[in-house]
Amino acid sequence: MILKVLGCDGAYPQANGACSGYLLEQGEQRVILDCGTGVLERLLRAAPPQRWGALVLSHLHGDHMSDALVLRHVLQAQKAQGLLPAEHKMDLYLPASPAREHALLADEEYFSVHILTDGQQAQIGCLQFTFLRMNHPLEAYGMRIEHEGRILAYTGDTNVCDNLLPLAQGAHLLVADSGVLHKNWSAAAPHLSSLKCGELARDADVGQLLLTHGGPGCSPQARLQEAQAIFPCTAVAEAGMALQV
Ligand SMILES: [Zn+2]
Ligand SMILES: [Zn+2]
Repeated sequence: MILKVLGCDGAYPQANGACSGYLLEQGEQRVILDCGTGVLERLLRAAPPQRWGALVLSHLHGDHMSDALVLRHVLQAQKAQGLLPAEHKMDLYLPASPAREHALLADEEYFSVHILTDGQQAQIGCLQFTFLRMNHPLEAYGMRIEHEGRILAYTGDTNVCDNLLPLAQGAHLLVADSGVLHKNWSAAAPHLSSLKCGELARDADVGQLLLTHGGPGCSPQARLQEAQAIFPCTAVAEAGMALQV
């Protein structure tokens, strides 16, 4: 598998940045993980709409799903131009709540809609997904993705919870929400700190840790330092990065 980082800014995009969005490639398969503000334009540059196999939304905060609202316009235009079959529906995996955001997104005209639940498994093309409920103010899911023994774990947005260790256990790459520095972290925060990501990577015995979802005013160097003190094989996500899993 190859994971391409389309965007990784937390909360809102920095100038010339984009919020959460990743393109997962395996052979001909293309799966989009989250589609926050600024991601769609980068997605169009990375892969044509004919290759978009499925869209998986970890949760329905705007920084993870806002560009999915516009993505259907791409599908609409592609159909109108005969570039996609009129009956084409893209697989969309998303939580059922909040109901208002879900209703905005789950347009059956363009999507085959799949509702996420805790412990759910899904075969998306050749990729085996397991979804686990995370600890976030909204219903949110982390995902563990396996292909021929290789494992990618993506936390989406979360703070510490019992499902994190099984999500990440033995993953070759762990992409983790380091939304805050540890001095600003508490058990009630919506995000992990970089230090907590390092602890998770160590405890789950992962191959590599990628810190993502950097919040405003949270320097990449400080985040890296915090996590690397505990788990040396750590990098900070940057848009444009591609990692072999
Ligand atoms: Zn977020
Ligand atoms: Zn969130």
